[in-house]
Amino acid sequence: MNTTDTTDTAELLVDGLTVPLRLLIGGAWTDGARGDTIPVVNPSDGSTLASIADATPADGTHAVGAAAAALPGWSATAPRKRAEILRCCYELMTEQSEQLARLISLENGKALPDARGEVAYAAEFFRWYSEEAVRIIGEISTSPSGGNRIVAQHQPIGVCALITPWNFPAAMATRKLAPALAAGCTAVLKPATLTPLTALAIARIMTEAGVPAGVVNVITTSRTGAVMDVVLADPRVRKLSFTGSTEVGRHLLKQAADNVLSCSMELGGNAPFLVFDDADLDKAVDGAMVAKMRNGGQACTAANRLYVQRGIHDRFARRLAERMAALRVGAGHRDGVDVGPLVDDASVRKVDELVQDAVQRGASVEVGGAPLDGPGFFYPPTVVTGVPVDARMVTEEIFGPVAPLIPFDTEEEAVEAANSTEYGLAAYVFTEDLGRGLRVAERLESGMVAVNRGLVSDPAAPFGGVKHSGLGREGAHEGMLEFTETKYIAVDW
Ligand code: NAP
Repeated sequence: MNTTDTTDTAELLVDGLTVPLRLLIGGAWTDGARGDTIPVVNPSDGSTLASIADATPADGTHAVGAAAAALPGWSATAPRKRAEILRCCYELMTEQSEQLARLISLENGKALPDARGEVAYAAEFFRWYSEEAVRIIGEISTSPSGGNRIVAQHQPIGVCALITPWNFPAAMATRKLAPALAAGCTAVLKPATLTPLTALAIARIMTEAGVPAGVVNVITTSRTGAVMDVVLADPRVRKLSFTGSTEVGRHLLKQAADNVLSCSMELGGNAPFLVFDDADLDKAVDGAMVAKMRNGGQACTAANRLYVQRGIHDRFARRLAERMAALRVGAGHRDGVDVGPLVDDASVRKVDELVQDAVQRGASVEVGGAPLDGPGFFYPPTVVTGVPVDARMVTEEIFGPVAPLIPFDTEEEAVEAANSTEYGLAAYVFTEDLGRGLRVAERLESGMVAVNRGLVSDPAAPFGGVKHSGLGREGAHEGMLEFTETKYIAVDW
């Protein structure tokens, strides 16, 4: 792979893909008020990939100003025109999908097959919302008294602050940008500081596709709290769409209250994965490999607790351990690698702490179980059996390639255990009895349930959580309505 940091022009070239290393404000690539930079590290070897511009609070205000100035023009742009620009974003992203996948692998560490999957998923949000932009449909009805008509229409909510995490640097950005633009809103995007390059590359693609100046602004910063405090307090901002940890989400909800911002929050998960005795063993193991190992386990939807009924438990554990042991661990951007590094050293230490805690409480490690030597931040695929319910890995998000197995006897017990968490994002159920699958799915306290599948994410489906996993939905038609306000007009005619 070819990477060149062309410092003079503040661009990184990855196999011919141009990645700007500056802030995008009002259609111009800029160094920011102070001219400081932040290094971006390749987690596969700890080397510095590039240095990006470091925004100040003043840059945050400048970006909001650019988004506010572009709002009247963009919200008045014909929906068909907005749709065509979004479709062009999809096409340009798809044309450069291999280079984008390599860029994601370089800055995030995920293995190339995962990165390719992410680019396809991320681009699909542009295609899906290009199709939705022309379907912002309101309602007209007669009031119950018969005295007037009720006209309800969906209008763009205004300037949106979009904050994204490092684990899906492309998809989390497009899952917000595409519906926001489809609805007629303008945006200030703040990508995660660990993985800003993919968002900058996508922003450049969007400008090439014809997104007008100021409609999308991107700020990267090491002073995240200070810069976003200013952005979220700005009265011109009307929406916060955040994806990240529940801890930061709670803090932002409090902050958003001061400016009475509409909030869509995609927060942490602790997904239960239920395997019943009557499950198809092959399907359940395949599903577990996807639900656990997509992105090396660093996904909000990752299977965090695998509850396995006693009659199938030992066969499932053996097969899963064999499959996990066979995965090839290495630098994410190298061909032939199945599992890349974790995103940083702190993640390796956290995952190892959780494994050691479970072992101290009596669990057994079947495969993996200790950090790998560097350079780079590697933890091997790990299966732990006999995990007691008070182990930290049962209550906390593992965010790594560790599968804890917990046996159960009855359906009632499995549902109760699955629901015993403050999270409620994704859940998985494996059974050949469809009646049981749907019955259990309805009782699980989570926003999404996959029955006999290891993957729930789909741009055409409403993605989101209940309880402390979030507020609102992304994807589907609902994802666009999150960027609108309903206007009611009472008409006498
Ligand atoms: P995080 O630490 O919460 O950070 C997420 C984003 O918030 C980053 O851009 C971060 O910026 C920013 N941020 C941090 N403090 C902030 C503040 N005071 N004001 C404004 N922004 C602030 O989460 P993460 O570690 O990047 O991502 C992992 C988490 O995301 C996991 O919990 C995972 O479950 C969750 N997630 C949820 C979904 C979903 O759809 N529900 C999807 C993916 C991930 P910096 O990078 O500069 O710190």
